[in-house]
Amino acid sequence: MNKYDVIIVGGGPAGLSCAITLASANDRFDWSKNRKYLIIDNYGASDLLKAELNNVAGIPKGTIGRDLLEDIKNQALEFGNIEIKEGRVIEAKEEDNGFTIKTETGETYKGDILVLATGFHEFSIEGLNVEVVENIRAPRPGKVMVKHDGNFKVRENLFVAGNIAGCSTMFAAAIGSGAQVACDIMSKWAGKNVVIHDVPSGK
Ligand SMILES: Cc1cc2nc3c(=O)[nH]c(=O)nc-3n(C[C@H](O)[C@H](O)[C@H](O)COP(=O)(O)OP(=O)(O)OC[C@H]3O[C@@H](n4cnc5c(N)ncnc54)[C@H](O)[C@@H]3O)c2cc1C
Repeated sequence: MNKYDVIIVGGGPAGLSCAITLASANDRFDWSKNRKYLIIDNYGASDLLKAELNNVAGIPKGTIGRDLLEDIKNQALEFGNIEIKEGRVIEAKEEDNGFTIKTETGETYKGDILVLATGFHEFSIEGLNVEVVENIRAPRPGKVMVKHDGNFKVRENLFVAGNIAGCSTMFAAAIGSGAQVACDIMSKWAGKNVVIHDVPSGK
């Protein structure tokens, strides 16, 4: 069975942003070397696929969500330490040494840390002891979120990001929460507050 440092369920903006932020630390610090990240995504269900963006800082007006999602996926894959697999996760079991994730076609994956970034339409992953409640920021009723501590942590090694975390359903909020979760995971590994910043080369 393949083993990952972090498994992210959901490859929308929140999940991809979390993975990209994590991956950007690799090979820079002792605590980040040789880390492996997996995104499992049930393709075709991200809300971004339905959007045209006219109000996201830094993203050109009229950007088609489908094109942007493809670009972000390709950006993630450029890092080399992120794998993206297609599949619908139906079960996640927490054991002493991490999480075992199962897809509806029977594949299993093991991860030390689990991030749920599954959007707010439903939450149907069995086996996780999480509280699923009415989404506090959804524009329409009937949307869900997983309860967390207010900082995207459900409990040790289990995080949520994006719409399933009750963020406002805006692209920037989704990617922001994904990056925040990544920084919190890296800070745990490093034992101090961590961010990953770059400067133009030669400056
Ligand atoms: C019509 C429309 C227009 C919009 N316009 C704008 C706009 O103009 N500006 C703006 O800022 N925002 C806009 N948005 C909002 C933006 O698209 C969302 O905020 C953003 O997509 C949320 O990201 P997310 O990663 O939390 O969830 P999603 O994008 O919904 O991604 C969740 C991912 O998880 C996957 N998943 C779910 N369950 C499982 C499972 N069990 N196993 C594996 N994978 C799973 C889904 O397939 C999906 O890919 C719009 C949304 C819609 C619907």
